[in-house]
Order: sequence, then structure tokens, then C-alpha cells
Amino acid sequence: MATSGSVPVIILKEGTSRSRGRTALSNNIMAAKIIGEVLKSTLGPRGMDKMLVDSLGDVTITNDGATILKEIDVQHPAAKIVVEASKAQDNEVGDGTTSVSILSSELLKRAEELIEKKIHPTLVVTGYKRASEKALTLLDELSVSVNINDRAMLKKIAMTAMGAKSINVARETLADIAIDAIGQIAEKRDDEWVVDIDQVQVTKKTGESIFDTRLVNGVILDKEVVHPGMPRTIKDAKIVLITSPLEVEKTEYSAEIRIRDPTMMKAFLDEETNMLQRMVQKIKDAGANFVACQKGIDDIAQYFMSKEGIMAVRRVKESDIEKLSRATGADMITNLDDLTEDSLGYAEVVIEQKIGEDKMVFVEGCKNPKSGGILIRGGLERFVDEAERAIHDSLFVVADIYKSNKIVAGGGAIETEIAKHVRDYASQVGGKEQLAIEAFADALESIPITLAENAGFDPIDIMVDLKAAHSKSDGIWTGVNVLGGGIVDLMNTGVVEPTVVKEQMIKSATEAASMILRIDDMIASSKAPPVPGGMPGGMPGGMPGGMPPM
Ligand code: ADP
Ligand code: MG
Repeated sequence: MATSGSVPVIILKEGTSRSRGRTALSNNIMAAKIIGEVLKSTLGPRGMDKMLVDSLGDVTITNDGATILKEIDVQHPAAKIVVEASKAQDNEVGDGTTSVSILSSELLKRAEELIEKKIHPTLVVTGYKRASEKALTLLDELSVSVNINDRAMLKKIAMTAMGAKSINVARETLADIAIDAIGQIAEKRDDEWVVDIDQVQVTKKTGESIFDTRLVNGVILDKEVVHPGMPRTIKDAKIVLITSPLEVEKTEYSAEIRIRDPTMMKAFLDEETNMLQRMVQKIKDAGANFVACQKGIDDIAQYFMSKEGIMAVRRVKESDIEKLSRATGADMITNLDDLTEDSLGYAEVVIEQKIGEDKMVFVEGCKNPKSGGILIRGGLERFVDEAERAIHDSLFVVADIYKSNKIVAGGGAIETEIAKHVRDYASQVGGKEQLAIEAFADALESIPITLAENAGFDPIDIMVDLKAAHSKSDGIWTGVNVLGGGIVDLMNTGVVEPTVVKEQMIKSATEAASMILRIDDMIASSKAPPVPGGMPGGMPGGMPGGMPPM
């Protein structure tokens, strides 16, 4: 509300809350900082896990930044900006989600200190921008090119990405699978690699051990063959994909049929059977011997198919039908009248196998080899889930290298090296902006510091040693030896990461921090009052919201 003379001017709705200037800023910084603080202890191979319990009581145990942020359902709008930055990291490059949150949070913490020293937030934002541009140039200059045919190198990259997950024991097995999977789907188009990770279908099933995880050159269907009389293996499979039910359609409106003669009754029932038989005949005439139907298949149709030696699965997920179509070259058929020999897809073999308790169908040796499926196994469900996240990260980093074949050493090596140069740059800039650029360098060093802390090392000792090593020309890749202790050349040790992961980390964290620093006014409209007792329209007087269920 503002006043013009003596007349009050109402601008905002009643109940709207507003905070301004420093109060708004420091509240936002505090909220956003917390995200980084929460994730800090999970960073790196010695990071701890978080146990998350959702509102339904489901438990997730992970140290994957993206997953933690997804599960904790952040409400504060400023904190959400950091969560978004981390999500962007996950979507763009697949790894480095924890690092982004930590870096954003550190940038904000240091900005707060500068603002307390009477440096205007806008100046901090410009300083951060200049520092991040410098950092990105340095990152590019320092990066090392790798050959995508260098399998040993790809393996190091994949293993580093999985290093922080609790599936550590199986890192090598999973790295090999990820490299093969990406190799299978990567396509070269005019000198450029195109890698669509969605083409790798990841399926999980508890049972056996993580070492039984395998890559299938085709598609995996978590379905069993519908009829016991059908074959369990089909060689040279001719595949038809049907998106409508293989059933006789029921009319939409009810009709009455009066039958006076028992033979008419039989004719009526026979007609339904005949219709189903004709459907199966169309499939047979086209030459198909494997049917994947997105909807249901009538029992009678199943019976006719089994008699013809056709194998079938029903209620296949739409996304799996699409994968089958891409992999086998089959058309997706809605009306069986459209089915011809040309609509069929091909696979060398379709086979039903018992996996743990359940049966699954494997469609292998597909017409289009640019498809792949990974079946993750493992004793515990939570373990399988974490393996899925590890596979996700390693698939992504390998794909990252296909797109841009540059790497840097991890373990805080690249961050320490960039921080050193950014600090030199700051002294050239001078003035108040210098302080912001230096703060940016300090924030970058939070990565090696956190890695050291989580490994139980003294972070001050480690930083002193790291800085000494980086002052020498051969010390560029010295980082925290998280697994062994002290510091070590991590390029030699093989702790390597795609450059794009670090690039995205710097970009996203700077953007998130800057966005929060520019806000000086928070206007929040009041929430609509909750509907009492969940009744539409509410009741006069209202009932207390938390009534026990009756
Ligand atoms: P993020 O979600 O940011 O990827 P992680 O928990 O996966 O977080 O940790 C990644 C960090 O751990 C990176 O800085 C990476 O370089 C570092 N790291 C991974 N493996 C090692 C290792 N063996 N030694 C030292 N640092 C490592
Ligand atoms: Mg990681």
C-alpha cells in the first residue's frame, strides 16, 4: 500500500508478503546456500550417502546430487534456482550435479561477505561474470584432447564418473558396458558424432549380482510371452508392432439382440471367434512370427496365434514399442488392414528368458544396430537403483567425449589451476571488482577443499601443498588423492573428466548465483486458504485441516 496525499492506493492484494533490499537478498542467499551445504558431504569417492524417505515411506539411499535434490522437494524460490542449475547440469552433461550446487553456494557465501563490506551486488555480479569468462577460456586452453578410439582413456573417464557411487566394486564391468553401449548407438554424420542417449534403454531387475549386468544389442521387454502354447524362441524374427488391442471392439452404446433359435446363438458367438481368427490370419499372411502389442490380446486370438507358431507379448510400453520400431525397422500398425510384408521389422532372434523371478523377452540382433539395452542386475533393490544412476553418469560422460573430445584431471586439480590464473587476472583488473574476481577463485577452491574434508584430510594442509605444486609448471594436474592420501598428479592416475562437465559447472553456477544476487525485492502473494477437510467449496467456519481419517 502506498499513499498519495491522504488517499491510500492499494497495489498489492491483502496478505501479500514483501521483503526488500538487503533483507530480501540475505534471505535468498541463506536459502540457496543451504542446498550446497546439504550436498557438500556427498562430494567425491569418499562422500557420504543420504538416506531419503519420501511421503509414502519409500527409502532412497544415494550420494547422487541430482537424485537428492529431486527427492527433497525444495520450496524456497531462491533455493530452487540452485536446484534448477543442478538439473540443467544433469540434462546437459549428466555429471557434476553436486559440484554445481557447491559452487553456487560458495559463490553466494562470498558475495554476502563482499556485500557486508559495502560492495554493491551489481559489482559482484560483473566481477563474477568476468571471472567466469576468464575461467572458461583457461579451461579450454588447459584441456587435453583424447581419441575416442582410445578405449583405455574412455574407461578412465567412465570410471571416474562412477567413482563416487557405492557400486564401486563393479566400476570396471559397468564402465565397459557403458562404453560398448555408446559405441553401439553413436552415429557419425558429416564428421560429427551424434549420440542420443535415449537410444540406450536401461532396464533393471533385482537378482543375481551386479556383475551379471549385461548389454543387449537390441531391445529388452519386461514382459512374458502371453500363451503357454507359443514358442519361446524365434529365429529370424519378422516383427509386427500393433498399437491397438487385438480384441473384438465392444460397441459404445448398449444394444439388445433377441435370439429365438439356439443355432442363432451359436452363429453369434462364432462370429466373434471368426473375427479374431481373421485378425490372426492377417498377421500370418504378412509373414510375421513375433507380435508386440501395446494393448491387450484376446485369449482366443492368443490361441490362434499359438497354433500358427507366432510368439506374442501384450501391453508393451509405448516407449518400448517406439524403441522396437527404431531398432527393428517395423512400422507401428493401428489397423491390421494396413499390415503388409513391408511393415514388418527384423531381428536375428527373439527369446524369452527367466530373469530372477520374472520372465523377460529379448529382441536381439536387430536390423538397425544403432540401439542397445542394458539390463542391470544386483542383489538389493537399492543397489540396483544406485547402479542405474552410475550407469546414467558413465553413459553421459562417454557420450560427452564423443561430442567434444577434451578432458581435464579431476580431484580438484583443474579447479585449483584455474583459481590460480583467475587470481592473477584479478590483480590486473584492480578496484572493487578485483575482490569479486578473487572471491570467484576462492569459490572454485571449495571443490578440492570439500574433497579433502570428505576424505578426512586436513583441508588447510592439502591446500598449502596443492598451491605449492601448482606454482610449478609441471604441477597443473595435481589434485587431492582422495583414495590414497595427500596430493598426486591425477592425469597420471587416470582421474579424468570431460571438459564439458566443468564448463557447464562454471556456467550454471555463475548464472544461478548472479540471478539470486540481482534480486532485491521479493513479493509473494498469499496462498489460497486450504480447503477444509478437502471438501469442495469449503464449509462455513471450517474444520481443522488435520482431521484424523475416519
Ligand atoms: P558430482 O555430482 O559433482 O559429479 P561426485 O560425488 O560424483 O559429484 O564427485 C565428483 C568429484 O569427485 C569430482 O571433482 C571428481 O574429480 C572427484 N573424484 C572422482 N574420483 C576421484 C578420485 N579417484 N580421486 C580424486 N577425486 C575424484
Ligand atoms: Mg559425479
